[in-house]
Amino acid sequence: MERIEVDKGGEESIVSGHLWVFSNQVRRRPPSIQDGDVAEIRTERGRLLGVGTYNSKSLIAVRLLAREGVPIDEAFFFRRIVDALQERAGRFGGSFRVVNSESDFLPGLVIDKYEGQVVVQLLTYGMERLKSPIIDAVRRSLSPSAIVLRNDSMSRKEEGLPQYVEVAQGPVVSPSVITVGPLMFLTDILGGHKTGFYFDQSENRLLMKEFSQNSTILDVFSYTGGFGLYGLYFGARSATFVDASLEALDMCKENVKLNNLKGAAFVKADGFDFLKNSAEVYDIVVLDPPSFIKSKKRTKEGERGYIDLHKKAIRRVGDGAILFTFSCSFHMKRSRFRDVVRIASYGGADIFLLRELSQAGDHPILLTIPETDYLKGLIVRVQKRSKGTGREAF
Ligand code: SAH
Repeated sequence: MERIEVDKGGEESIVSGHLWVFSNQVRRRPPSIQDGDVAEIRTERGRLLGVGTYNSKSLIAVRLLAREGVPIDEAFFFRRIVDALQERAGRFGGSFRVVNSESDFLPGLVIDKYEGQVVVQLLTYGMERLKSPIIDAVRRSLSPSAIVLRNDSMSRKEEGLPQYVEVAQGPVVSPSVITVGPLMFLTDILGGHKTGFYFDQSENRLLMKEFSQNSTILDVFSYTGGFGLYGLYFGARSATFVDASLEALDMCKENVKLNNLKGAAFVKADGFDFLKNSAEVYDIVVLDPPSFIKSKKRTKEGERGYIDLHKKAIRRVGDGAILFTFSCSFHMKRSRFRDVVRIASYGGADIFLLRELSQAGDHPILLTIPETDYLKGLIVRVQKRSKGTGREAF
């Protein structure tokens, strides 16, 4: 096995519990080392920190896979997957995230289970090179009827990897119906977003129960209907689904039928434009946009996008009504997200924070790896400061 020496900073990162070593923290590496190679990671003094994969093309040069000198083979991946399954045992149904990259000590590997079918994402050079033992371990641990590799994620570009979708084991049934909580969802594992479904919101959607009875719902950035469908299921009178993707809305329509729900309307539109041009107000507005902050450098610009979106959305929330709002940008900090809503409501409404939300338990957060904590949500009640109510007085 090749051997990489890391400096004090790299050593501290690993000892603190992180799994990354940045390229400027690599002190010495063999000239023969190839991108994606598994190597021993050692301190300048020669102490073994573990084994990890190397990529010269990425700012994150080393991703640690194990803290001991173990072989990285099928048996290794099998053990890791079994550990991840054990941690999730009894908490989820037949469809959930089985392995969530860093937070399951498998940086660069995502495994989602859609009933009997499994979708794998190899997001780093190292994981791409380890494809064969990974697929073998998925077969042995999960006995899937199909395995799809959704290696079409944008993040692979930063690793110097091509984007592709491959059926590693067939036949694949897609779209197919999965059950998540009380509802069924038609899901496209070959062509849908990410691996097909946003499992990270599965626990937050259930919170629609507290507010939905007899309500009118606006679900902006609805994808295949997650939040609005739960709203209808929990007794809402109507749900308007807004998304820029026609395919997503078509699936959403199917999902309404599949679950025997009534009161749905569908609008293909840009979320910002819809909020700006609509004149209606709703009892519940849900905002679940894609990430607006793709890199730390672009935080300010992204924040402005979030503030603009919230300004527009708050106008569509009735007086005393509810806003569910989310940011999946890691670079949006929790306290800053509260600021976004506060700034957007400046002068026009009082905002009561009812709940602060995070990602579902199949996307574990490791405190030692801050990047694993990315999804932020707020449920707030919006009290408008309309003239004549006396509310503006304080
Ligand atoms: N709330 C969904 C997940 C939303 S993912 C759920 O519970 O499953 C974000 C969605 O935003 C995607 O469906 C994408 O098509 C949509 N989207 C991205 N940019 C958009 C825009 N400018 N206007 C409207 N929808 C947009």
